Amino acid sequence: MGAEETMSTVDGPLRCSHCGNKTRFDIYDRVARRRFAHFSLGGEVTYEEEEILERTVERIVCRWCERDDTIEPAESVVTEE
Ligand SMILES: [Zn+2]
Repeated sequence: MGAEETMSTVDGPLRCSHCGNKTRFDIYDRVARRRFAHFSLGGEVTYEEEEILERTVERIVCRWCERDDTIEPAESVVTEE
């Protein structure tokens, strides 16, 4: 694995600078992927491998205040003493 991550990948912590929400967001993204579909003879499908080829985050909306223009990457939460 270890696929290259694009700038638009959102995996780190987020924060809404308007209301301070750090935990609840709606993320609208588009994903291009390859999946290995394994069909049983009965026609049921199982996906046994999945590779994300490309992922584009189009919009992130705060669940608390519903703004999408105040979302920013959160600073790491580590507090040093
Ligand atoms: Zn908010």
